[in-house]
Amino acid sequence: MTISARRTAGVAAFLCVAACASAPAPDAAFGEGLRVCPGHVSNAPRTDAARRVAGYAPVTRVSGIVLARAPTDGCVSSGFGPRRPRKAGGGAGPFHYGLDIYTGAPRPVYAAGDGVVEAARSLRGYGRMVLIRHNDRVKTRYAHLSAYERGLAPGDRVRRGQPIGRTGDSGNATAVHLHYEIIVGGRARDPLAAGR
Ligand SMILES: [Zn+2]
Repeated sequence: MTISARRTAGVAAFLCVAACASAPAPDAAFGEGLRVCPGHVSNAPRTDAARRVAGYAPVTRVSGIVLARAPTDGCVSSGFGPRRPRKAGGGAGPFHYGLDIYTGAPRPVYAAGDGVVEAARSLRGYGRMVLIRHNDRVKTRYAHLSAYERGLAPGDRVRRGQPIGRTGDSGNATAVHLHYEIIVGGRARDPLAAGR
């Protein structure tokens, strides 16, 4: 091998390593377990004694797309569905169209499934928000972000497990958390139940 050929091979090997390192390991970003946060949690899912969500699996299949049920690393601080009124007799609470995952400090948020970025912008109430379109029927939304992944823009293709931003408290939020929605045919579904 000539010096120049050796150098070319070295560069090729380096490129391969760099490409491999940047490719997301399937579902490595999503923990095996999910817990409910300490204290009162509205619409809390069923758990075991250690507050682990009962029957939890990190991914599900919804209308042909494999999606993470909790695309960041934290605990459930509010479940999907009608929230109970704060005071007895206060009437029905507002409906919660997503799953809230509290992360404390800002943590990476990952694309829940393969798709195309439809929006990455601020939207009233949601704050900094990413919307991913997975197919004709399925979208996922990620709200209250503190930051978008550098360079992320509408039209970008993303793979499941690829970082898209970081949790935050932008918009109508009182703690650093991810508000995560799975939207099927225009309707929000419970991320912990969708695809079952
Ligand atoms: Zn929420």
